[in-house]
Amino acid sequence: MIVDYHLHLRAPDESIDHTVEAIERFVEVAGQRGIDELGFTEHVYYFRETRGLWTLPYQTERCVFDLERYAGVLVEAKRRGLPVKLGLEVDYLGARQTELAALLEPYPWDYLLGSVHWLDGLAVDQEPGLWGALSVEDVWRRYFAALGELARSGCVDVLAHPDLAKIFGRRPAPEVVAELQEAAAAAAAEGGLAVEVSTAGLRKPVGELYPDPGLLQACRAKEVPATLASDAHVPALVGEDFPAAVELLRGAGYETVTVLEGRSARQELLG
Ligand SMILES: [Zn+2]
Ligand SMILES: [Zn+2]
Repeated sequence: MIVDYHLHLRAPDESIDHTVEAIERFVEVAGQRGIDELGFTEHVYYFRETRGLWTLPYQTERCVFDLERYAGVLVEAKRRGLPVKLGLEVDYLGARQTELAALLEPYPWDYLLGSVHWLDGLAVDQEPGLWGALSVEDVWRRYFAALGELARSGCVDVLAHPDLAKIFGRRPAPEVVAELQEAAAAAAAEGGLAVEVSTAGLRKPVGELYPDPGLLQACRAKEVPATLASDAHVPALVGEDFPAAVELLRGAGYETVTVLEGRSARQELLG
């Protein structure tokens, strides 16, 4: 079994396209690349139902689409027999996390990804963002503290791009990295989450898979299951660089991949 569990449902020009026809374009590429199942995970801040929670212009400018329609399109695609799952990429919101979770509660999610993109209104994955305000070590410490909090919140099922803080290739001392990796794996285990192996990092300045082998090995040691992800924003990137992701998983000792349905997880043989 090979899944791609982190996809943004867009047209080939990257514009939002929450239609069954758009899903079919992703499924077609999946068929060509030997991907068995796709999970769509649009950013939570694209939906007007969540508008009351956002403060940054980056979020409020995008907050115009309809969650009911998005979920409905995925439910219809499943009814037609397409191999797809309904997910969402949910941002870390600190004290307001449970408020967001309550708002999402009525929809038939197969799973929710948990992501840390912003801290105190400053981006981890955009420059200058948090990098203009804090030292590299402090960015990493703040990022991983938030990731741990999100993992233990009970509000999400999978940690997306778990070591996103390495996106620009800046890292604190190796012993700090090791400490934070260990803490992230412990939080994922405690929260009962899966961890995502994402090829998106190969297309970022760091040029590496998320997460580092050390973090994945720490997850494996704590029996944290794993998913596979491209984070594609266009159909052409479905399953992009997956041989490298599968190799990373096998190297860390994984023989299975997580399949999610109705927010519960089971393991299927990888490959
Ligand atoms: Zn993300
Ligand atoms: Zn994403």
